[in-house]
Amino acid sequence: MNQYDEILSRQRSFFATGVTQRASFRIEQLRKLKKAIRDYEPAIIEALRQDLNKSELDAYSTEIGILYKEINNFIKHLNSWVKPTRVKTALTHIGSQSFIYAEPYGVVLIISPWNYPFQLAIAPLIGAIAAGNCAIIKPSELSQHVSGVISEMLTVCFPGDYLLAVEGGAETSTELLNLKFDKIFFTGSVAVGKIVMQAAAKYLIPVTLELGGKSPCIVHKDANLDLAAKRIVWGKFLNSGQTCIAPDYLWVQKEVKEELIERMKGCIHEYYGQNIVQSRDFTQIINEKHFQRLLLYLKQARILVGGGYNEKRRLIEPTIIDSVDWKNPVLQEEIFGPILPVLEYQELSEVIKGVNEHEKPLALYFFSEKRELQDQILKEVSFGGGCINDTMMHIVTPYLPFGGVGNSGMGAYHGKKSFEAFSHQKSVLHQTTLFDLPVRYPSFKYALQMI
Ligand code: NAD
Repeated sequence: MNQYDEILSRQRSFFATGVTQRASFRIEQLRKLKKAIRDYEPAIIEALRQDLNKSELDAYSTEIGILYKEINNFIKHLNSWVKPTRVKTALTHIGSQSFIYAEPYGVVLIISPWNYPFQLAIAPLIGAIAAGNCAIIKPSELSQHVSGVISEMLTVCFPGDYLLAVEGGAETSTELLNLKFDKIFFTGSVAVGKIVMQAAAKYLIPVTLELGGKSPCIVHKDANLDLAAKRIVWGKFLNSGQTCIAPDYLWVQKEVKEELIERMKGCIHEYYGQNIVQSRDFTQIINEKHFQRLLLYLKQARILVGGGYNEKRRLIEPTIIDSVDWKNPVLQEEIFGPILPVLEYQELSEVIKGVNEHEKPLALYFFSEKRELQDQILKEVSFGGGCINDTMMHIVTPYLPFGGVGNSGMGAYHGKKSFEAFSHQKSVLHQTTLFDLPVRYPSFKYALQMI
């Protein structure tokens, strides 16, 4: 007997009461969640400090504040999103009306990673609540303090029959994945994403997979180099590069390579000071295993900027390394750390070919003032989402669905897309009984000729 069976069946019974079907109930729960986060803010910030040495500013702006905005957006729009959407009715269906009903899946499982451990567990939960589901969250064991706070916060503020966090590592996930949930929302690595999808296949459970990969950042010679430098440095080194959509590697046109790197060096010093490895506020690498993995990249590279580290505190300086070839592990694996390899190109077509020879990235960033080049990239390269002349900002607007494609994931969320990710779209035709067109019936003599 699976130890989580009982929780699942209690949540099923709760769902069956029908209480989550009411929009007013869902809005009330979203308000409760917002209050819970407010009450637990100091504990969340402290846990983020313990797990990742996140500064209070980063904790607030990238983990907590972003959730308040998302909840507010849901509260504002939910009453209209839950309404059945009327769509056109085909001429052949004259007399009828067609509607799409957003129906909650039931009991959903959310599995989340450690890099933004609070935000990436709670953001999908907001969608799950709004769409009228019960939910079990399995946060990452690597960010154990945040995991503990999530678990306590949900236990104190919500009945476990409705929402609950289950703490543990891969073995806990495995047990949960053996159960027949109605939807699985997974954020994490490509390798584990495949395990999740296999498990889901057993019961044909719909999945959203928010995965990772190598996101290129391309800078063309006509780009505004000052802004490119600022925005790339910010996007790459936020959270010490432990961001799924951080620019993974930089591809810059030969003529402007030196100048761009010089400017990026200036930004690094301006943002983080000269003695970063002693900084109180620079995010640390999550654990020793990842720290050692990143040091290996440093040892195999020619360092252009940075390269220092503090082994005791698991800090690595924002580092830029010179052109490496594609066989080097730093260009084969997702870096997920504050190390940015730089490649140079002569013609944009080389970049397009190069990116297309690899798995479809989660994000892509292109810096250029030329509209036709921007259009060319958008047309010729497939990627989850991204920015022209910026990095990462596409993730922080509720109006852009966020998700990957191919190896970087399937499905999307944020804003209304989160509501849809946790709803089944039930299409229903309301037929009239006032009259009946005979053409479809076998007895209608000319039926076939008329089609
Ligand atoms: P991970 O895949 O190792 O772990 C994610 C979750 O899966 C954790 O809760 C973990 O306990 C669980 N898990 C681990 N092994 C498992 C197994 N064998 N079976 C079932 N569950 C298992 O990922 P991570 O290291 O926590 O996070 C980093 C990865 O996540 C990176 O690849 C990053 O790009 C990706 N990521 C993607 C997004 C996104 O929104 N697309 C956001 C953040 C991180």
